[in-house]
Amino acid sequence: MADEREIIDKLINRDIKLHEIEKYADSIDEAVEIRRKFVEEISDAELKNISNYSIDMELASKKNIENPVGAIQIPLGIAGPLRVNGVYAKGEFYVPLATSEGALVASVNRGFSVISECGGVITRILDDKMTRAPVLKAKSVTDALKIKSWINEHFRELKKAAEVTTRHGKLIKIDPILVVGKYIYPRFVFTTGDSMGMNMVTIATEAALNLLTYKTGAHLIALSGNVCVDKKPSSLNLIEGRGKSFIAEIVIPKIIVKNKLKTTPEAIIEVNMAKNLIGSAVSGSMGFNAHYANMIGAIFLATGQDEAHIVEGSIGITTAMTEDNGDLYFSVTLPDVPVATIGGGTSIETARECLEIMDCYGNEKVHKFAEIVAGTVLAGELSLMGALAAGHLARAHKELGRA
Ligand code: NAP
Repeated sequence: MADEREIIDKLINRDIKLHEIEKYADSIDEAVEIRRKFVEEISDAELKNISNYSIDMELASKKNIENPVGAIQIPLGIAGPLRVNGVYAKGEFYVPLATSEGALVASVNRGFSVISECGGVITRILDDKMTRAPVLKAKSVTDALKIKSWINEHFRELKKAAEVTTRHGKLIKIDPILVVGKYIYPRFVFTTGDSMGMNMVTIATEAALNLLTYKTGAHLIALSGNVCVDKKPSSLNLIEGRGKSFIAEIVIPKIIVKNKLKTTPEAIIEVNMAKNLIGSAVSGSMGFNAHYANMIGAIFLATGQDEAHIVEGSIGITTAMTEDNGDLYFSVTLPDVPVATIGGGTSIETARECLEIMDCYGNEKVHKFAEIVAGTVLAGELSLMGALAAGHLARAHKELGRA
């Protein structure tokens, strides 16, 4: 048993640093407790809830967290059943959603109920890849263009060098290779199995770059040159895709729109055009949707995905139109959703349990999981669009009825 008081005093006097507590403590849990007590002492805050956790901090501290002091808790709700008619996800699923935003789970649930009445949501994966784009510097533009040609001509060697580092990562292309002045941005594009793949592709790209810089004399400025584009909304990812790119679609008979969503296909179509399309265009938003980030965020937090990727999952386009018979066609297209069923935070106990609810933990599950995410996004989007359209209709009735 370490001398707790002595360590806390050393921390207060800055004789040791926060990350050095493990050296003096007998176990990770003891280090966590000392660190937490130190924070309580300097902040005068009582951390009795943060100290209550069941996850294995020993494991988490090896790859998920540094300087641990405990765990936060976010309320977890369940929505379901969601009927999915996908290629990988077929049948009914209960979806865990972690959020502190009241009404979100209820809203998604309402969308699920509409989907069930229509016989299910159709989901399709369009593309699957993870990217890393370093920035290199050449001596001149002429030299930069030579390096670009060299990369194109030596793809096989670069692929071999990259893939030595991983069993599941496969380099499928280096594209685009952007040149700006003397700078070169080759976008390395990999498939990454069931993992989200950021660590995997970073390590693999570094190995390929060792060969590239040695053979061409290019100078590596940074392993990430922001053309990846990791954790930022971007037009490149909207067009090219990143992580899983997918679509979910449904045709909703107008009677179901009326009975369940209390509105009409025409009202939903107008809200979509005025809000998601024109409103997003005039504001320069890349969203073109009502709130994908709500569903993406709640599923990501529940299942141990990298939460910073919620920003990428917020990009996408909702379409709404009538079928020939007047029924509502509704779809969500998300080009940029990095998800995993292995690696990253997915093995943290609570995340694993959430993935297991959907039978989505582990090998060969990532496409199934992505299709469930697609169906969930459509449900939440439809529900909110329906609510907005119903409000819009109510206001219109009031105004026009009086007129
Ligand atoms: P990871 O946990 O670092 O790697 C996945 C591991 O699982 C690899 O060792 C892989 O082995 C193994 N694996 C076993 N079965 C697999 C299967 N069926 N499919 C895929 N892999 C399998 O996770 P990651 O997805 O590469 O990276 C995610 C983490 O990166 C997150 O924690 C995220 O926060 C973090 N991140 C890192 C960066 C960065 O620049 N490094 C940037 C953003 C986020 P093989 O490699 O041998 O195939």
